[in-house]
Amino acid sequence: MEYLNREKEQFKKLFETEGINNINDRVKVLEFFLQSKQHITSDELTEIALKNGDSFSKFFVEDTLNLMCKFGFASKNRFDNNGGIKYEHKHLGRHHDHIICVKCQKIVEFNSENIEALKMKAAAANDFYVLQHKMEIYGICSACLKKRPKVISLSMAKAGERLIVKDVIGGVKVKMRILTMGLKIGDEIEIITNYGRGELVIASGYNRLIFGQGTADKIFAEPIT
Ligand SMILES: [Zn+2]
Ligand SMILES: [Zn+2]
Ligand SMILES: [Zn+2]
Repeated sequence: MEYLNREKEQFKKLFETEGINNINDRVKVLEFFLQSKQHITSDELTEIALKNGDSFSKFFVEDTLNLMCKFGFASKNRFDNNGGIKYEHKHLGRHHDHIICVKCQKIVEFNSENIEALKMKAAAANDFYVLQHKMEIYGICSACLKKRPKVISLSMAKAGERLIVKDVIGGVKVKMRILTMGLKIGDEIEIITNYGRGELVIASGYNRLIFGQGTADKIFAEPIT
């Protein structure tokens, strides 16, 4: 709680000095933010405020979050596959990186001394002095991995995933089309992009192949783990 009060006092002081409007409402937004979980969207924060009896416009909440970023109370991240921007508390002097599950969007924070040291080395080797850095590791968490069938349709596969083609379902026409594209059972492939809609791009050897989701639904493959 002491941390919360200290942040609140600093926030007020800075905002007053800068002549920012609606300070009392902004302090409320800050309070909800500091009490919320890490990595929250502005929509989620607006919702929390509403549940607690404070109705702020989405615009006001987002504007306040952006001010918090500007003054070092929050930082924002747009994790891949996740869509919206997520804000998190910025604890001064405490750095961390992220591991993100591409299936359930769970975010885990970590800090590795080895990675931090390697980052300095890599920069120094290229004649750079490091100011800041961000590391995001994308993967599938063990809970999601357990729930997943052994063989999945390509439309379910995620960018970066490597798989072995096991089966093609559907009529002769579909099978022929896939075959003429240069894909056959037993091929090892990598998913380049899959946004869950529109086209999906895969790499098979040195070839890039493009499928619609309908065709991707018919191709089954086993992820290589
Ligand atoms: Zn780091
Ligand atoms: Zn997961
Ligand atoms: Zn974080």
